[in-house]
Amino acid sequence: MSLLVTGSIGIDSVDTPTGSVTDVLGGSAVYFAAAASFFVPVRLVAAVGADVPAGLGNVLEHFKIDTRGFEIRAGSNTFRWHGKYRRNMNERETLAVQPNVLAEALPPVPDAYRDSEYVFLANTDPGSQLEFRRQFPHCKLCVADTMDLWISTQCAALTDLLRNIDGLVLNNEEAEQLTGEPNIIRAAELIVQMGPKFVIVKKGEHGALVEHDGVKVVLPAFPAAQVVDPTGAGDSFAGGVMGHLAATGDLSHENLRIAMAWGTVVASFTIESFSLDRLMRLTRAELNERFEHYRSMLAI
Ligand code: AMP
Repeated sequence: MSLLVTGSIGIDSVDTPTGSVTDVLGGSAVYFAAAASFFVPVRLVAAVGADVPAGLGNVLEHFKIDTRGFEIRAGSNTFRWHGKYRRNMNERETLAVQPNVLAEALPPVPDAYRDSEYVFLANTDPGSQLEFRRQFPHCKLCVADTMDLWISTQCAALTDLLRNIDGLVLNNEEAEQLTGEPNIIRAAELIVQMGPKFVIVKKGEHGALVEHDGVKVVLPAFPAAQVVDPTGAGDSFAGGVMGHLAATGDLSHENLRIAMAWGTVVASFTIESFSLDRLMRLTRAELNERFEHYRSMLAI
């Protein structure tokens, strides 16, 4: 039931067709941890520099994140990312990225985290992800996320990582980039042949597909009429998926599908405002209510 995440903590600048923000809190591990904490307690291994992102302390406290693996490095700078979304909000471009502390070694894993059963390698460089994964040889489930930058610059390390994880989460463009296959059904099959037992391909407003032991499940996104900022949707989706799996301890196809539904619903809140703003205001009751709404939408 213990869920551990490593990944980025970032200072983000984001431009969307509805507005822009500069130097706000972001990062793959932050969105993941916040989303997953609605289901189970979350442990974090990640570092920031002396320029600690504004609001980070509040967010970690609000979601009761276990920060024994969190480090502030006096001599380093925090990871920075600047992204821009196109008009349809589905496509985004990275305008600037500064790895900074992400290029350094991860903080040591606290002894108290050694028994972590569920491990999520949120988006960061695949070499660090693999090194981290090797420290949990007996965990029940290890899932990783990745992105275009790592597929184009560290493909060999990523291929190595794929042989050592149970699941991979990525978006449709990344699935095509990784396999050279534009059909995502086929791309998902090819990724499973590269190592992981399952792959979840996120398709933005078109939902997500999972390929698991030859079984395919497709779920639609929650219909969102107002998208303010899609940043962190993928990480929040993964947080909902892993949070539900860790809370239930059931890795069956059926439960993976329910987990994806939770991921879809929690991500639908993330995109309603910039940074972590909407997740900070989200209650479990609202989450449950939207889950029931989504469930009723799926019943045929
Ligand atoms: P998502 O929208 O779920 O793909 O995740 C967005 C978050 O990922 C942002 O808050 C960024 O700080 C973070 N991010 C962007 N690029 C990278 C990268 N190359 N490595 C790690 N984290 C990243």
